[in-house]
Amino acid sequence: MPGLSYPFRYECSACGSEVTINRWEARYLAPDPDLPGALEIALQSRGWLRDENQDLLCPSCAENYFC
Ligand SMILES: [Zn+2]
Repeated sequence: MPGLSYPFRYECSACGSEVTINRWEARYLAPDPDLPGALEIALQSRGWLRDENQDLLCPSCAENYFC
């Protein structure tokens, strides 16, 4: 079974900031870095959150959005 092809790059849907998740980071945080859920865990650990439309927000935009 092929694993996920790290690294993954994500962009904030509000301001365009970018974040890159590497395999080692997902491996450190999640039990199995090859499950898609590992990416969400890694993003959340950096403060990146999804709004109700499932759009990704960087930490500073998430702060504005959820406050
Ligand atoms: Zn942002």
